[in-house]
Amino acid sequence: MRIPRAPFAFVQASASSDGGCATDCHGALDRADHLRDDPAALSALWSNARVVLLDDAGRSAADSTGQLLAPHGHEISQGPGGVGAAVFLGLDHDGGGWFALAAALTAFVAPQWLDLRSAATVWPALDAGVFAQACALQHWRGRHRFCGACGGAVVLSRGGWLGRCEQCGLEHYPRTDPAVIVAVSDGSRLLLGRQSSWPPRRYSVVAGFVEPGETLEQCLAREVEEEVGIRVSRIRYFASQPWPFPHSLMIAFVCDWESGEIRPQAGEIEAADWFEVLQLPKLPSKISIARRLIDAEVQRIAGEMRAGLA
Ligand SMILES: [Zn+2]
Repeated sequence: MRIPRAPFAFVQASASSDGGCATDCHGALDRADHLRDDPAALSALWSNARVVLLDDAGRSAADSTGQLLAPHGHEISQGPGGVGAAVFLGLDHDGGGWFALAAALTAFVAPQWLDLRSAATVWPALDAGVFAQACALQHWRGRHRFCGACGGAVVLSRGGWLGRCEQCGLEHYPRTDPAVIVAVSDGSRLLLGRQSSWPPRRYSVVAGFVEPGETLEQCLAREVEEEVGIRVSRIRYFASQPWPFPHSLMIAFVCDWESGEIRPQAGEIEAADWFEVLQLPKLPSKISIARRLIDAEVQRIAGEMRAGLA
């Protein structure tokens, strides 16, 4: 069986993917929302379900070869446990259940524990996607144990997807922070910049978090102007990627330079410049949509240049 490889981490390639940016609109799992309110159904799934075990640092149990080790429910306990003990992640293509559980609640011994960034580079898309989902939820649960409105304890329900304040009744949901990421070109070159905290000589595209009251396009234009001082136009959507470090969604675009000279933002951007597509600096890891975006733009620009020469 061909294991689907992700075009970048946590996302499956579409069956019709031609090497471009096409990605599958179906998730790693069917999240089966209707089962979250059905504790009897979740209990029935448990015995043969796969359970992603996470340690306190958010690392997953892995076998001796470094691949995902997700034991069956019956190897761990009689059932998914009390309210919110195990989180229901969804159903795989064979209808099998997937759960996530804090390893500290079990006696299970794993040969090793692997962090999400390492797993993302070597695990198949399904396994890495499931791990990413489990990790993001664990992070949310750990930081929303008390109600932000009244300080009361938050009790989880719906298979771990809803928190309700015991005191004031306010509902709390897992959150995702949208961030835009953008490749700017001037027709023949790509704009890349770097932060001083990055590995030496590594450059990437501009990225930034969406602020309240802002559209994705407004955020993109603002971030580019803030970070490198130029104005852009012709904003086109590229693809998106869950980025659970700890709970972002990267929404990628391409756009054109419109006006202005590069002026790196002091204290934020150490250096930024236009790069010829055949003379690129060190680039981000292949697990990131940033890399996919750069590779796709390089291909597009190089193709247009070849066509122009023909
Ligand atoms: Zn409350």
